[in-house]
Amino acid sequence: PSPIMSGKKGLVMGVANDRSIAWGIAKAVAAQGADLAFTFQGEALQKRVAPLAAEVGSDMVLPCDVTDDADVARTFQTIREKWGRLDFLVHAIAYSDKEELKGKYVNTTRDNFLKTLDISCYSFTRIAREAADLMTDGGSLLTLSYYGAERVMPHYNVMGVAKAALEASIRYLAADLGSDNIRVNGLSAGPMKTLAASGIGDFRYILKWNQYNSPLRRNVTLEDVGGAGMYLLSDLSSGVSGEVHHVDCGYNIVGMKAVDAPDI
Ligand code: NAD
Repeated sequence: PSPIMSGKKGLVMGVANDRSIAWGIAKAVAAQGADLAFTFQGEALQKRVAPLAAEVGSDMVLPCDVTDDADVARTFQTIREKWGRLDFLVHAIAYSDKEELKGKYVNTTRDNFLKTLDISCYSFTRIAREAADLMTDGGSLLTLSYYGAERVMPHYNVMGVAKAALEASIRYLAADLGSDNIRVNGLSAGPMKTLAASGIGDFRYILKWNQYNSPLRRNVTLEDVGGAGMYLLSDLSSGVSGEVHHVDCGYNIVGMKAVDAPDI
């Protein structure tokens, strides 16, 4: 039998380095035969992303800052010229001023609120519109969320509000695009040590807390997230849309500290 993703073409947005969630998903879909293109933000990341892309047989590595409409338009124009169509897209992009990822949400500034929502939420809608245009054979769009969208987490602050908006937009986009056989889903990943996460206050404590209190008594890996991403991007999930799927070692079902959890 041919691999699950063979013949499928996908754009992966949000690889910064080999710890990026987007990279975990890229490896999983490439292992199943997908053809990939990548975007990166800022010159500095190009030299990190290009070798990773090469590892999975891709030489399409495009600059794209999602706050720049011309960049976004150029990215999809390039995909159109090179491939003529698109089957799936991974949006693994978020940003907030790290000065506001500590302390209290109530102190969020208007500037950072708008910037956080623009990059972490609106960009998915903007990109979905461009991608949908190229998904002439149907398709699958995937974004990344966190449990801080549903419950209050210390320090997550405005990012929690952005993720809540992102999760709502998954549902609205799923409804809008479903009649073109385009599915829209999210992965709600448990905490992982990435570049973006390093901006969150007390992140090491959060990792330990999740490790000690998750049903599986560990934190998620890139392989965990990659496998779930592959499922949502592939035809294995052909009947699934508008869903936010937790890949968090079960943490979201827990109501209290585990009885065997050590002090942190
Ligand atoms: P990461 O730092 O590897 O990836 C974040 C990416 O966002 C980077 O590639 C960065 O270049 C990109 N980005 C930021 N601003 C951008 C802009 N203006 N234009 C284009 N790209 C921009 O970290 P990650 O943890 O892999 O983050 C990926 C996604 O996963 C994010 O949405 C994050 O919120 C989400 N997530 C992370 C965790 C975690 O604990 N690490 C948990 C759940 C969800």
